[in-house]
Parts: sequence; structure tokens; C-alpha cells
Amino acid sequence: MDLKQYVTIVEDWPKPGIRFKDITTLMDNGDAYRYATDQIMAYAKDKSVDLIVGPEARGFIIGCPVAYALGVGFAPVRKEGKLPREVIKVDYGLEYGKDVLTIHKDAIKPGQRVLITDDLLATGGTIEATIKLVEDLGGVVAGIAFLIELTYLDGREKLDNYDVLTLMQY
Ligand code: 5GP
Repeated sequence: MDLKQYVTIVEDWPKPGIRFKDITTLMDNGDAYRYATDQIMAYAKDKSVDLIVGPEARGFIIGCPVAYALGVGFAPVRKEGKLPREVIKVDYGLEYGKDVLTIHKDAIKPGQRVLITDDLLATGGTIEATIKLVEDLGGVVAGIAFLIELTYLDGREKLDNYDVLTLMQY
């Protein structure tokens, strides 16, 4: 299946010059959403994954159906102040300024094999921060799966030491 036909390119959003890849048109097509989920599931199958971790909010949309299909759990990575119990944090750089991502301290047991999911790899900042949270808790990053990779932003250079799957490249 050619998944790109289900992605809508939105010109000049959220600001002039950006060509936003809108995945909501992929998600609201049952066949396309299932196909994308199946591809990631096939990738994860021989990696002995114990847990899936994804950053809010689109990392949940990709990761949760895969967790269900594999019969493993899902642990959310969220912006500061959103998780109710004890968390660990990481600062990460945004285009303008900084942000903080958090995960519950007991979300991952040391040695657990984690598949990280998100919708899109751009500069790699978000996923680098997510990797740090997983590894700080003693998790092993078994793989990282995205729907989309923006190859011209070279985010993959930050992921040299990891096993990465991307279903579409722009
Ligand atoms: P990065 O941290 O790799 O620079 O940016 C990736 C994050 O920004 C992802 O969590 C992703 O959801 C969001 N993002 C950036 N650009 C786009 C885009 O064009 N489309 C979508 N769907 N998400 C984007």
C-alpha cells in the first residue's frame, strides 16, 4: 500500500514556510491505519519487545495499537505537569527555547526491551529526549518506529546507534 496518498501536506502551517505532514487523514482511514500498524508490528515481532513508549500526543496514536497487537504495555512520555506520580525529566531543545518531557519513574523496569514510537522524525530532538528517559530508567531501546522521516533534516544522525524504521520518507 502506498501510505503517502493518505498523508495531507498542509502548506504554511503552523507558520509560513512549513509544509506540515498531517497524518489525521491516514488515521481516519481504517485500511491505511491498520496497514501502518501491521508494518510496525512486523518490524517489532522479532525484537522481544516488552513495552512500547511514545511521546505525546501522536506517539500514542502510533504506539498504542501496536502494543495491543503485540500484547505488551504502553508507557506515555508527556510534557511537564501532566503525569500524576513521581517522574524523571529531560530538557530538550526546540526551535525557540526549551521544553521538558517526563515519564513515570516506575514505568520501565531495568533491562526491559522498549520499542519507541512517534509519527514523524524531523530534527530528532523529541526522540533523543525520549531515548534518554528510557535509558535513564534502565530500559534497552530495541527499536524506534516512525510513520514519516523528513530526510532533509538529518534527524537520523542522532540515531546512529539505534535500529530505526520509517514507513515514509520526504
Ligand atoms: P523533532 O523533535 O524530530 O524535530 O520533531 C518531531 C516531533 O514534532 C514529532 O513528535 C512530531 O509529532 C512533530 N512534528 C514536526 N513536524 C511535523 C509534521 O510535519 N507533521 C507531524 N504530524 N508532526 C510533526
